[in-house]
Amino acid sequence: TPFVADPGRYDSMPYRRAGRSGLQLPPLSLGLWQNFGTARSFDTQREIVLRAFDLGVTHFDLANNYGPPPGAAEESFGRILATDLRAYRDEIVVSTKAGYLMWPGPYGDFGSRKYLLSSLDQSLRRLGLEYVDVFYHHRPDPQTPLEETMGALTTAVAQGKALYPGVSNYDPAQTTAAAALLADAGTPLLLHQPRYSMFDRHVEDGVLDAVDAAGAAAIVFSPLAQGMLTDRYLNGVPAGSRAVTSVFLHESDLTEDVLRTVRALNDIAAERGQSLAQLALQWVLRSPVVVSAIIGASSVAQLEQNLGALDAPALTADELAAIDSVLE
Ligand code: NDP
Repeated sequence: TPFVADPGRYDSMPYRRAGRSGLQLPPLSLGLWQNFGTARSFDTQREIVLRAFDLGVTHFDLANNYGPPPGAAEESFGRILATDLRAYRDEIVVSTKAGYLMWPGPYGDFGSRKYLLSSLDQSLRRLGLEYVDVFYHHRPDPQTPLEETMGALTTAVAQGKALYPGVSNYDPAQTTAAAALLADAGTPLLLHQPRYSMFDRHVEDGVLDAVDAAGAAAIVFSPLAQGMLTDRYLNGVPAGSRAVTSVFLHESDLTEDVLRTVRALNDIAAERGQSLAQLALQWVLRSPVVVSAIIGASSVAQLEQNLGALDAPALTADELAAIDSVLE
């Protein structure tokens, strides 16, 4: 049966404006980094994406290399776009990126114009789209002049293959320089995508200020520290969890120190009558520079629980101080 989206999907999502742009985004976006590869059930992937859309999540974050294997997440999402979401393309913001290793040889990695523009064409083919909404440079390239990399983003916009440019994992100086080049070219920086969670606060040391000064917005990744800032690992390491299935999180990351901190944060969440995942998401969203947090989910239940963060009362100054003291 053809998918028909819930008519109530826009009734309660508190969309936020991305910096000084015209684009509004949901405070929680869905990322397809780890749970949308070929080893995962396509039916589950489809259920997660469609449930997200039904709940007002209009933004889906991808990259050329998401899978595994690289490219698989774009192909999978492309299948869902071509069938269930075909009628809804104009209600959806799709992002992709290039910047990490994608194919062998000197043109499949980092930040050359050659790599970025050919990778974007490949992404569009996998996604089955004529354009993406946001095209990011995925990480800084120490060798390629920033003028060339930002020039490639501007070209992508001029060609109509992307609507807005973004950068990811840039430091404050790189962010300021990138934003200046893009502004001069008439294609202002929309988004900077850094990592941000209670376990990684580096953006508080300059990145968020640089993003704000540029009139752009931050959209943050791994707000749950890949699941560590949830109840996932409070009673051991479950089969099928990221600490088991992924090379990006290891059981050895779950030290006694980390687990002690997680338990203390979980207690604060419990006092608020919410889950730790919900607390961790509200915590990154407290910054006015953060327009959205990109969550991963391996099930519809995780997605639904996480979206519940948007219904909770704001964090009080006392609660924020209690969190700070746990994190010290
Ligand atoms: P999260 O920190 O949200 O971690 C997601 C994982 O946490 C899930 O896969 C799940 O793990 C677990 N989880 C989520 N919700 C719950 C819950 N309610 N209860 C228990 N466990 C839960 O984000 P990701 O690290 O997945 O990153 C999110 C997105 O950010 C990516 O998909 C990608 O789009 C983007 N990203 C960008 C990067 C960049 O360089 N620009 C780098 C990394 C990510 P499990 O699988 O064990 O169930």
